[in-house]
Amino acid sequence: MPKPVNRIYSSYGTTIFTTMSMLALEHDAINLGQGFPDRDGPLQVREAAARYVVEGPNQYPPSGGMPALRRAVADNNRRFWGLEVESSQIIVTSGATEALAACLMGLLNPGDEAIIIEPFYDCYLPMIEQAGAVAKVVALRPPHWSVPMEALEAAFSDRTKLLILNNPMNPTGKVFTREELSDIAALLVKYDTYAVCDEVYEHLTFDHWRHVPLMSLDGMAERSLRIGSAGKTFSLTGWKVGYITGPQGLIDQVAKAHQFLTFTTPPALQLAVADGLGMDDSYFNGLAADLESKRDFLRATFAGIGLEVLPCHGTYFLTVDVASFGFNGDDVAFCRQITKEARVAAVPNSAFYHPASEPPHNLVRFCFCKEPDVLAEAAKRLQSWAGRS
Ligand code: PMP
Ligand code: GLN
Repeated sequence: MPKPVNRIYSSYGTTIFTTMSMLALEHDAINLGQGFPDRDGPLQVREAAARYVVEGPNQYPPSGGMPALRRAVADNNRRFWGLEVESSQIIVTSGATEALAACLMGLLNPGDEAIIIEPFYDCYLPMIEQAGAVAKVVALRPPHWSVPMEALEAAFSDRTKLLILNNPMNPTGKVFTREELSDIAALLVKYDTYAVCDEVYEHLTFDHWRHVPLMSLDGMAERSLRIGSAGKTFSLTGWKVGYITGPQGLIDQVAKAHQFLTFTTPPALQLAVADGLGMDDSYFNGLAADLESKRDFLRATFAGIGLEVLPCHGTYFLTVDVASFGFNGDDVAFCRQITKEARVAAVPNSAFYHPASEPPHNLVRFCFCKEPDVLAEAAKRLQSWAGRS
């Protein structure tokens, strides 16, 4: 018998995003599963990247990131969120995924507890487990996904090291209210806990909803690490450029994990993202307005075929209740069936739950950051499938 490999990773299968994307390919389905836009972000940012690749630099950038990008992230923290930070308080990472890994590895010791809010983005749990820590799960309930404060407080103990807060939240489309954030902040102070704030959808909020970084609340700047992603902000998900903002002492610690993970990130992409972050407000507002109209279109499509749609205030994702449609199977069966029969792929919400939890089995996530003609074709296929079912 060969020696056993790592027990954490070997206990996981392939991610739901890869699984559904492969099934979509196999059936020539429109992929509303994995969250990525089908139109690349601003041409000027892509052209800048090409220019920087040709003109350089092309050797290892400083581990913390290109100074221009660190400055641009600090400027954006001020411009959009009123956060006053120095460039030295920013680390550039290879996507928000590496940012999360660096934060968790930089903060957690074996035996620590980390609170995660369910449903949660898929990489949180294996990263916590691999750090030797224990995940304490607090479940939000549909349709409003409000924070159950008593259950949240019950999850804290003297071993709690950190809480991961994904706001705006994938897969639910929830945007945390200021009241919820204040209540969470009070618990973080009471139990002297850090916050790792996954805010990759910071610019993607709709209607009157506005993102509020937890870090901007009283007492939070000294205990929060705030993560952003150029992938989401510039519709360039394949670039994998992320950034972390935090208090100097914590950032210096996280930088040590980052230097042993990837050390750095391609310089041309960093410089192009720095240029992108310098674009004026109309770009950022336009991105959200465009997504909002796409959400509206898909929402109306679902309503038209009798599928109940849950509220969605931000992100790329809309959740529907397939039980409302009279579908007999669970969310996984529904996703497989529409991929094969309607040729539209989606992601089952139950994939975002801890293996020991009891997830709802009636919720399905659809990604709406697609071109209008693609969404229109998806709508046509779903309508005709619903007519047949
Ligand atoms: N966090 C959340 C909530 C996400 O949805 C994603 C992916 N889209 C990430 C982190 C990872 O971002 P990146 O592609 O920049 O690594
Ligand atoms: N964040 C994307 C989503 O939620 C997936 C990214 C990935 O495939 N790892 O769909």
